Amino acid sequence: MTNRIDAAVETLSNRIGGKQVPSASGKVEPVYNPATEEVIAYVPLSTKADVDAAVQAAAEAGRAWAKTAVPRRARILFKYQQLLVERWDELARLITIENGKSYAEAHGEVLRGIECVEFAAGAPSLMMGKQLPDIATNLESGMYRYPVGVAAGITPFNFPMMVPCWMFPLAIACGNAFVLKPSERTPLLAQRLAELFDEAGLPPGVLNIVHGAHDAVNGILEHPGIAAVSFVGSQPVAEYVYKTASAHGKRVQALAGAKNHSIVMPDADLDAAVTQIVAAAFGSAGERCMACSVVVAVGDVGDALVEKLKQAADAISIGNGLEEGVFLGPVIRDSHKARTLGYIEAGKQEGAKLVRDGRLDAASDGKGYFVGPTIFDDVACEMKIWKDEIFAPVLAVMRAATLSEAIEIANRSEFANGACLFTDSGSAVRQFRENIDAGMLGINLGVPAPMAFFPFSGWKKSFYGDLHANGTDGVEFYTRKKMVTARW
Ligand code: NAD
Repeated sequence: MTNRIDAAVETLSNRIGGKQVPSASGKVEPVYNPATEEVIAYVPLSTKADVDAAVQAAAEAGRAWAKTAVPRRARILFKYQQLLVERWDELARLITIENGKSYAEAHGEVLRGIECVEFAAGAPSLMMGKQLPDIATNLESGMYRYPVGVAAGITPFNFPMMVPCWMFPLAIACGNAFVLKPSERTPLLAQRLAELFDEAGLPPGVLNIVHGAHDAVNGILEHPGIAAVSFVGSQPVAEYVYKTASAHGKRVQALAGAKNHSIVMPDADLDAAVTQIVAAAFGSAGERCMACSVVVAVGDVGDALVEKLKQAADAISIGNGLEEGVFLGPVIRDSHKARTLGYIEAGKQEGAKLVRDGRLDAASDGKGYFVGPTIFDDVACEMKIWKDEIFAPVLAVMRAATLSEAIEIANRSEFANGACLFTDSGSAVRQFRENIDAGMLGINLGVPAPMAFFPFSGWKKSFYGDLHANGTDGVEFYTRKKMVTARW
């Protein structure tokens, strides 16, 4: 936290009631380009009073918005989709600049965000209720769907566009007003998303942005004017958000951390598996909740697999994500790089075999928070590098004699976001599907993230709540129902 301002660098303000409003706190934090270490903006650390101003603006605007005909709401979503498509390149570049991921990854992330808007534009169908004309003689019953009121979203740094787009487009299409608290490490994209939604014709105050960190989050969790909270971030914070917001009477969905396992069977197409696993382990610098962080090699496939993984990792180009051909950008902050290097040292101390040491790529004198692709072999469940979410380009390889043993290893993790199986065998797929504890499964692919019309459905400590983000779960989360039973 700092109050020192470089006058040449923009200080962001909150977006409340359609206007840019400076935070009352006077405190700011620098936002860095992680590839260059340049300060690209200062983000205000907003207070509970700032949150309250946003909630009041949202409540005011939300009253008319909730009564706006659903097809009219949908038309604004269609216009928003158009603007996002037109600004695709600008948005992708902004993601790379504030997050560090490669331009190609950022371009894909924009698509994922746009798909959420496209799903939300189906609001007239999604908001429909149900009727049964004859529940008894001359008695009918019907369910009507309504917005919950003001909903809030708290988002992480790793998907500055996709994750906010899991939340506000659908919430708003369902007739709610929204307060978004984006990650203080990647606040610029959120600002742009709000401006473009306003340009699409969204009435002022329906979408509000409050920047900041803990104080702003606590302001949201405790605010009596907020009915629903969507959170995406690390496991301890997700648990805290879930418990605190629930205790304040809100419905909560809190998507948390992960440690995703990929199991490689002896009958798998090894080259195809390696391509998928390397992209899933090292793409976006491993900073994905669906990253592959553990590979379990079954039977005698391990040595060949590790050799091929190392070769593929050696060929990865590291650098500023805006440069042509770069695959691996920096991790988000210096502190995250230091934490990652600490895990690599801990892995060595714990007795895992360091097959490829990304610290050597990190040792260049140039700027940026770079860590190269790192591979450990002979990892065991007792090791910290297996237990903890490292959230960096560090891949652990383990060995198992059978598929059952591999599934048992994966199921020992406290996380259960995703899991993948590489095989040609239908019966192996069935055994995997029926026995693995994870909410999102991939067969012969590395990142099994569902599309916007399906729920993003982590299990165990990867998710707190009931209704998941996206799909009809999302519609249920952002709406409440009235049942009308009538005799005429
Ligand atoms: P984070 O938990 O540090 O931050 C997430 C949000 O919570 C931010 O807006 C931040 O300001 C706020 N926050 C952080 N600490 C807080 C505290 N002590 N009290 C109140 N608010 C706090 O997460 P991150 O580092 O930005 O994101 C990475 C994490 O998010 C990883 O664990 C990743 O697995 C997870 N993630 C999960 C999913 C999923 O779908 N399950 C998707 C994306 C990211």
